[in-house]
Amino acid sequence: MPKKIETVVLHDSSTPVFGDIQKGGSVVLASSQTLLDIAINQARANALWPLTFGLACCAIEMMSTVASRFDLARFGSEAFRATPRQADVMIIAGRLSKKMAPVLRQIYDQMPEPKWVISMGACASSGGVYNNYAIVQGADQVVPVDVYVPGCPPSPDALIYGIIKLQQKIKRGKFGRLIELQPRTLESEVRV
Ligand code: SF4
Repeated sequence: MPKKIETVVLHDSSTPVFGDIQKGGSVVLASSQTLLDIAINQARANALWPLTFGLACCAIEMMSTVASRFDLARFGSEAFRATPRQADVMIIAGRLSKKMAPVLRQIYDQMPEPKWVISMGACASSGGVYNNYAIVQGADQVVPVDVYVPGCPPSPDALIYGIIKLQQKIKRGKFGRLIELQPRTLESEVRV
């Protein structure tokens, strides 16, 4: 898959990322980024609307992120959309069956560009405990995944951390290049 993959590691560093607004209002700029890139990336990264797409037990943890205890609204991603046409990020929460894989791909294709994918949990990322004929052994066989969140199930905090990593990735991007990198058609057929 042509998109760069970012793996979530469950610890953070205090290193500033490109495009982050620092205390006092200064912005960390990558040398190749323009102010337009920064402005667009800030808007995109801080208003990620996830698609409502729960597949299994991980979805319960995903739902918890928007409840009062974790409050995903703090990161601008609380507006889960019931239609792919209004969604920016697909969170694959749970094991992906081979029967569901073409549906997942179709919904992904219906999302407007730019769009991103988070694979939540061991099952979505690698099949997890379901090493059998019915389950796709990794959602990245069907759609390009940007961030993998490990765990079974990952806690709501882990998913929020994954969303933060995705925001950092978006902020590092360049407006024109980011569009270019998005695969518009399925480059490989669904391997199920
Ligand atoms: S990773 Fe665990 S919690 Fe998530 S779908 Fe698989 S079995 Fe369920």
